[in-house]
Amino acid sequence: MARKTILRVAGLAACSAILVAGCASDSGDPAPAAAPSSAAATQPTDGKTSEAPVPANLPRITILATGGTIAGKANANSAVGYTAGQATAQDLIDAVPGLDKIAKLDAVQVSNIGSQDMNDEVWLALATKINQIFADDKADGVVVTHGTDTIEETAFFLDHVVASDKPVVLVGSMRPSTALSADGPANLRSAVQVAAVPEARGRGTMVVLNDTIHAADDVTKTNTTSVQTFASPNRGPIGHVDAAAVQFSGPAAQQPRLTFPVPGKSPLPRVDIVYSHAGMDATQVNDSLGHGAQGIVLAGVGDGNTAKPVVDALSGAAKKGVLVVRSSRVGSGSVVRNAELNDDQLGTVSALGLNPAKSRILLQLLLVNGITDPAKVQQNFADS
Ligand code: ASP
Repeated sequence: MARKTILRVAGLAACSAILVAGCASDSGDPAPAAAPSSAAATQPTDGKTSEAPVPANLPRITILATGGTIAGKANANSAVGYTAGQATAQDLIDAVPGLDKIAKLDAVQVSNIGSQDMNDEVWLALATKINQIFADDKADGVVVTHGTDTIEETAFFLDHVVASDKPVVLVGSMRPSTALSADGPANLRSAVQVAAVPEARGRGTMVVLNDTIHAADDVTKTNTTSVQTFASPNRGPIGHVDAAAVQFSGPAAQQPRLTFPVPGKSPLPRVDIVYSHAGMDATQVNDSLGHGAQGIVLAGVGDGNTAKPVVDALSGAAKKGVLVVRSSRVGSGSVVRNAELNDDQLGTVSALGLNPAKSRILLQLLLVNGITDPAKVQQNFADS
């Protein structure tokens, strides 16, 4: 019991030091209050260690729960199976001792689904809720608990529709809440730590798992089951977090983020991803067009390339006004405009550093906002 107390207090003390160090916020808005940096544990005269009082003016963090493995529970009839989206937001908070000493917490259950079922409706609800929370100054940061399968997509979407420099941090886990060594509680603690520090402001939406902080545009899942699954393949993580400190590897970007109004209704415009492979014909492209796709993202081989019949079909679609973006299935690097394929001639757009899933979301946002000229679309991919 004594050991537990000291660990909790140690985390609070370290977090306080960061908050104190960074009290001036980038935006000039009042920064979240810092907990006192003086002795974290008091020594009563009887020699026993007791916890420091919790400061009244802790940073305010709202936790929005959407489901995922972090809220998953084991199946009674399977050694490895579990069902995602079972535990509630409050259950998740209760599993992290001392979380209420890092921040003043508020919890809202937005959905309770596996993120393989994430959809436009939940995205719009989440984005509207977060913008409202910040507009009403109800929180200094928001943490979204989420399944890891599509966490990078939701992060990218929110990064482009949240109109505030206050931080949004998405967090998940690779093991369900009932697993041995469940990673959810530690990840949630890290996410709250990150959202609570003033230095997180101006960095848009982030993803925090396994002690690592990633930017929404770069982060991607790289392993089906490992707790060290998230990577930022093009620029690397933007920081790290442990029980004692939140450390960003550089300052927040100076230029404003590319943001759009939250779309008024779901579903968002249909944009399909066509996955390129050896021996491919134009069937997938023609199917997409037949189902009314307004945009197609090519998950191309290599530098965004594909087989000749597919190139012809995509170019034909682009000339009829369908937006066609060349991304890559490779997982890292940038698709170079007019290199392996001539975008100027084909009428296509190069995704640059965005992977196919994120290219699809940007294209949907551009379509909703009436941005359909390929040159302007290309510019938005460069700005994203
Ligand atoms: N299928 C789960 C989900 O994305 C996996 C996870 O959360 O890790 O909701």
